[in-house]
Amino acid sequence: MGAKKNMRARVAELRELIRLHDRKYYVDHLPEIADGEYDALMAELAGLEREHPELVTSDSPTRTVGGAPTEGFRTVEHAVPMLSLDNTYSPEELLAFDARVKKRLPDESVEYVVEPKLDGVSISLRYVNGRLDVAVTRGDGARGDDVTANVRTIKSVPLDLTGETAPATLEVRGEVFMSRSVFERLNRRRLKNEQAPFVNPRNAAAGSLKLRDPADVAKRHLRVFIYQVVGRVPPRVTTQSKAIKEMRTWGLPVIHNVTLASTIDDVVETCDEWDDRRRRLNYDIDGMVVKVNSLEQQERLGSTTKSPRWGIAFKFPAEVVRTVVRDIVVQVGRTGKLTPVAILEPVFVSGSTVSRATLHNSDEIERLDVRVGDTVEVEKGGEVIPKVVGVVKSTRTGSPQLFRMPGTCPMCGEPVARADGEVDTRCENESCPGRAMGRIEHFASRGAMDIQGLGTALVEQLVSEGLVADYGDLYGLTADDFAALPRMGERSAENLLAELEESKGRPLSRVLHGLGVRHVGATVAQVLAGTFAGMRELSAASEEELAAIDGIGPVIAASIRAFLGTSRNVEALRKLDDAGVNMRGEPGRRKTETALTGLTVVLTGSLARRTRDEAAAAIAEAGGRVSSSVSSKTDLVVAGKNPGSKHGKALELGVKVIDEAELERLLGTKERH
Ligand code: AMP
Ligand code: ZN
Repeated sequence: MGAKKNMRARVAELRELIRLHDRKYYVDHLPEIADGEYDALMAELAGLEREHPELVTSDSPTRTVGGAPTEGFRTVEHAVPMLSLDNTYSPEELLAFDARVKKRLPDESVEYVVEPKLDGVSISLRYVNGRLDVAVTRGDGARGDDVTANVRTIKSVPLDLTGETAPATLEVRGEVFMSRSVFERLNRRRLKNEQAPFVNPRNAAAGSLKLRDPADVAKRHLRVFIYQVVGRVPPRVTTQSKAIKEMRTWGLPVIHNVTLASTIDDVVETCDEWDDRRRRLNYDIDGMVVKVNSLEQQERLGSTTKSPRWGIAFKFPAEVVRTVVRDIVVQVGRTGKLTPVAILEPVFVSGSTVSRATLHNSDEIERLDVRVGDTVEVEKGGEVIPKVVGVVKSTRTGSPQLFRMPGTCPMCGEPVARADGEVDTRCENESCPGRAMGRIEHFASRGAMDIQGLGTALVEQLVSEGLVADYGDLYGLTADDFAALPRMGERSAENLLAELEESKGRPLSRVLHGLGVRHVGATVAQVLAGTFAGMRELSAASEEELAAIDGIGPVIAASIRAFLGTSRNVEALRKLDDAGVNMRGEPGRRKTETALTGLTVVLTGSLARRTRDEAAAAIAEAGGRVSSSVSSKTDLVVAGKNPGSKHGKALELGVKVIDEAELERLLGTKERH
């Protein structure tokens, strides 16, 4: 009964999360999580719904396509719904797709086409009597926005179809996108005009397509590639590849680089080749789309309510690109840790421009032997911070200086220290402004108080303007304070104040996590909040009492006492209390229950944020068990980059596979308000 209730709650939570991220992606065009993370949420929801069909609703995100029509444009119903595509990330998953297709088409030979997956905005064009009648965005899949006036400004879109064979009435689908070169030029101009640059060409294309004035849209030089014809086609058009050729004779700008593949192995090889070839394109593709070539077979395979059974998207793994290190600077984190950061010649990686990458610590710099002026390889996967993975030594000219960690803190000028046997160099100055910024950012972060809108740039401003010195000061901020900040609109200020107000009610575990006590992460914070009636009781506990708590050892106990024994921390806590931040514990709750409690977990592939050992320790701390091989007893497989055979085994056995981002979520931010 209890488990059932939990599951119902989880299903509701997943739906809410997915809708939230749909909105950010499709409506705001400002995605917050990586595709892999989103897919993991969707996979978890689909899994739960499969096990419990009674919980399925017709409006569940598993049954619908994300997004909603935007206000201000006329809404148009799609005659045939515009579906989404299922995503895959590995050759094994492509094989599984092939197996599913063959199972529905026993004893038939199946040919595939592989097309680049353009990273733009999907569009449907309807021609009536050979004339462009209406252009509609995907919207929620059933209804989209009429953007005809804007699409008319795209040069390659014919207003009249040509060729004898063009059907009088026709609907085609494709992708509106922006070339990289146009994107770069647009962003340079925006920066010059002090406008915020677009994050990537897809967001730029999406934003441009929704401009009010078609004259402005024309200046954005959007492009379209058409990849699908909907409805009736001349009888000789029996395959997708023929359809593309045919559409070209009608004057439509069809997609380039379509490859025929007679086996799934050829498909895998083509996908693999394109992971490299795509770098030479002047536009972004984020994967390949694999489709059954025969239109008749496509029709028999059909679709689910969400996506066709005859096609699938293959998403590329994390991308590595080369660029030049312009400088190496040092950042100070909340614990005082000094992190060297490479300032890069901006480059395009995995859909966004990257201009900084972490170098972790001085040992890492030595290991890589990276120097200013070097050409380096930078990697970015999902939402992970970009990192330098190697130096291209052959391109080094002269003998650039080796980087040395400074002897003093770049933020406060106090001497820094590196303890014996530790890799990190630290600033020990408790009132270092660099540390204050880090602490505030941590306090506001998603896993802690989850104060949206309080990001790095704003925290930096608040601290350097002297408006706050610690997180304790956040709740004293007023609208007037914000008004004084450059680049802060009235609306954002209002939103932030509302966010701050709302955050006062977060559970004590989140407050404790946010304080930034060394060794007190989300899990320990939950143990503490589940043990004490409130902050006052916790503060009164001795080191021995703390160490006696299940899940808390002498090291953590000492760290907590040290934190509470420092007057500036006590002062910050008092400010939080005075501001009305929740200080009541939840001792009724079971102490160490986490999303991973009791689960057997297998790790495969490399993780970006933690070593295998660290990940295993964290899982164990959360009550899970890490095992080295996949069996039917495995509950969860965490697939990092380049996952090995364990991943295939998991798919074979139907064991749930999650990515690193999802693991982090389970470990850190399990509890959402
Ligand atoms: P997703 O939005 O990840 O579900 O992927 C489906 C979307 O991929 C479609 O709605 C199209 O906008 C886009 N797409 C890009 N290139 C292609 C292509 N060659 N074939 C089909 N869909 C494509
Ligand atoms: Zn300092």
